[in-house]
Amino acid sequence: MNIIKKIKSFFKKTPGFTVKGSCKKCGNCCRNITFMIGKDYLTKQEEFERIKKLDSRYNNFFISGKDENNALLFTCKSLKDDNLCSCYAFRSLYCRLYPKIEVKQLRAGAEMPEGCGYYNESNVKFKEFLK
Ligand code: SF4
Ligand code: SF4
Repeated sequence: MNIIKKIKSFFKKTPGFTVKGSCKKCGNCCRNITFMIGKDYLTKQEEFERIKKLDSRYNNFFISGKDENNALLFTCKSLKDDNLCSCYAFRSLYCRLYPKIEVKQLRAGAEMPEGCGYYNESNVKFKEFLK
């Protein structure tokens, strides 16, 4: 396999990632987050009102802004002023799994929130792959 094909196949592969670091308790993963319905980000308040009727868990969030791509940003109502969770023992499975992010999300450009103490490290070393 030539070098170009090797590089292309490296990025087509789904390397494993290891989460490293620790939580600094900044609360940034609970504020200004985006939601996707299918392949699209929520961009309209009417859409948000509609999905709240379909899934009551969305009632735990309020609209806190918009990002540069016009996607609505949401903040969890359980986040306290001290950046801690008021329902920590009863938080959702999604919150419990965080900061585990699916590889496809990482490859789509998903990053940890600003200031987060966690980071993702690939298990596959690029140099090793080329050997
Ligand atoms: S339930 Fe708690 S951990 Fe989950 S998003 Fe809300 S504040 Fe954060
Ligand atoms: S953004 Fe990262 S460091 Fe901040 S509270 Fe969430 S997991 Fe912890």
